[in-house]
Order: sequence, then structure tokens, then C-alpha cells
Amino acid sequence: MTDCIFCKIADKQIPADIVYEDNDMLCFKDINPAAPVHLLLIPKQHLVSLAEVGPEHEALLGKMMVKVPEIAEANGLGYGFKTHINTGKGGGQEVFHLHIHIMGRPV
Ligand code: 5GP
Ligand code: ZN
Repeated sequence: MTDCIFCKIADKQIPADIVYEDNDMLCFKDINPAAPVHLLLIPKQHLVSLAEVGPEHEALLGKMMVKVPEIAEANGLGYGFKTHINTGKGGGQEVFHLHIHIMGRPV
């Protein structure tokens, strides 16, 4: 996916403020934060949206979901945080590479 901005971030072709990375996923700060802490967790694999996933993605999505509280805690959100996933144009999705928003205010 050469024209996908999040693939380019995953490939380090364009910079991002990365807070977590492993073989499967990458988490970085949102460029236009809507909260004091606003992170985006993406699979390194290009998946368009939650509407495009299938049983073959269960392990990957499970790993990502389990990683969310660990990343949140490490970024000051141990007291609590919000997650959301925009799906499709009707769901407000603007970048068509699946991502989980992790947002909150450190206390
Ligand atoms: P969506 O509306 O697709 O769920 O959210 C896309 C998010 O990606 C937005 O919050 C937007 O600020 C963020 N974003 C878009 N382009 C970039 C970028 O190049 N770098 C970073 N770090 N965030 C981006
Ligand atoms: Zn992509």
C-alpha cells in the first residue's frame, strides 16, 4: 500500500512519535490530538478498516486489544482512557488503515 500514510509510518518512510512497537503493531502519537494523550495503535499489516477483517485476523486483533491497557498505562493513562475505532466514511474514518484511538488525560 504505497499511498497509505500509516503504512509509510510503519515502514519509517515518514516520521511519527512512536511510543510502542513490536513485530505486529505500532503505536504513535496522533498528529492532531483531541485529548492530552491521543495515541493511534495500528497493525503493521495494511488492513483497511474493521469492516474488512475476517477470522484470519482474530489473533492479530486480539494481540492489539490486549496491548491497549499496557500502552495506556505506560503513557500516563492508568486511571482510565477512552478507545474508539472509526469505520468507513459513515463512521468518520479518514485514514483507511485500521487504527485504534487511545485517548485520555493523565491524572
Ligand atoms: P480517523 O478519523 O481515520 O479515525 O483518524 C485518523 C487520525 O489520524 C486523525 O486523528 C488524524 O489526526 C491522524 N493522522 C492523520 N495523518 C497523520 C499523520 O501523518 N501522522 C499522525 N501521527 N497522525 C495522523
Ligand atoms: Zn496502510
